[in-house]
Amino acid sequence: MKGPNTILDEYGTTIFTVMSALATEHNAINLGQGFPDTDGPEAVRQVAANALLNGPNQYPPMAGLPDLRQAVAAHNKRFYDLDVDWQNEVIVTSGATEALAACIFGLIEPGDEAVLIEPLYDSYLPILRRAGAIPKIVRIEPPEWKLPLDQLAAAFSDKTKLILFNTPMNPSAKVFTQAELEFIAKLMLKHDTYAICDEVYEHLVYDGRAHIPLMTLPGMRERCLRIGSAGKTFSMTGWKVGYTTAAPPLVTAVARAHQFLTFTTPPGLQKAVADGLRQDDTYFAGLSSDLQKKRDRFAQGLKDIGFGVMQSQGTYFIGVDFRPLGFNGDDVEFCKHITIEAGVAAVPFSAFYQGGVKSGVDHFARFCYCKQDALLDTAIERLAKHFKK
Ligand code: PMP
Ligand code: GLN
Repeated sequence: MKGPNTILDEYGTTIFTVMSALATEHNAINLGQGFPDTDGPEAVRQVAANALLNGPNQYPPMAGLPDLRQAVAAHNKRFYDLDVDWQNEVIVTSGATEALAACIFGLIEPGDEAVLIEPLYDSYLPILRRAGAIPKIVRIEPPEWKLPLDQLAAAFSDKTKLILFNTPMNPSAKVFTQAELEFIAKLMLKHDTYAICDEVYEHLVYDGRAHIPLMTLPGMRERCLRIGSAGKTFSMTGWKVGYTTAAPPLVTAVARAHQFLTFTTPPGLQKAVADGLRQDDTYFAGLSSDLQKKRDRFAQGLKDIGFGVMQSQGTYFIGVDFRPLGFNGDDVEFCKHITIEAGVAAVPFSAFYQGGVKSGVDHFARFCYCKQDALLDTAIERLAKHFKK
């Protein structure tokens, strides 16, 4: 019998599914896969419920409901002072995951080079390779996450079609600085490339930092595809509503792929997300201030146990070095160990690096802290008890 596609088969099952299954099997608190344990705003869910009951429930326009595209354009103006033509510069997809795939399939020609910054979100590399791109990967490493500018410059060439990167970044929780973005922009102009900007955590930045879309930098407006996700912005990861903002020729290219991937996204959810994006500033400020408090609460607990705790500048993830606890093994073993023995699941950083545990980044674990305080406290108690033994 002939086998499945070898590129996709090579990646097996994603770490998020693997760790969630293990957490369920062992009845562990799941701080592995990133999802909140409280659903997002009730008013937004109410709009979706009404829309499901009252309809319409048929195919919406392929690019997304006008209402949502208008809301995405207005959101770009409100937060980043970007003027966006909702009819030609916004496309709605089934989650950021589909947006990423549609951007890649819409732009990549087999043999094009794509620059990536590792650690990599799970879907980037399989989809890029499946589209025929040749990845050029630059690595940043814990705990400093310093961008090696010379290596980044060397990764670009005249064959580079695009750079795909993520800020605020999962799993490093790094927020790219203005200077780093300027450097990327300079390389893009020099080599005439695009950027797929995964900005799903745009509203989850802390300590007074600002999220800066690369698209707002000089010369970048026509070159960037800026991806957002209702899953993160409204704490409803199961909804899978994503939105991409880009210049008209780029949105057309994305639509060429989107029409054959999913074509549309549930209209009731789109309507609710449109309402969500129009909420006043207190909602967005509250989202990050609540999460910042959770980060601080959880980080302190981890420090008290003895972990080496990294900064979490954005996202809802925090990384720890577990070597100070004397664990003898790699990060995959550590995450399995704490899931089974301590009843708390995490995700190994090596899953985001080529080579996995052999990548050299093999002693860091990622915890997700967008959970109720009581659950975070119980997780800390369990870990503390376990490591006191
Ligand atoms: N990019 C990153 C960096 C993510 O962490 C996620 C999380 N799920 C996604 C994309 C996908 O978002 P969505 O759930 O909207 O598909
Ligand atoms: N983005 C989430 C994470 O990094 C999970 C997404 C998924 O499960 N596909 O944990």
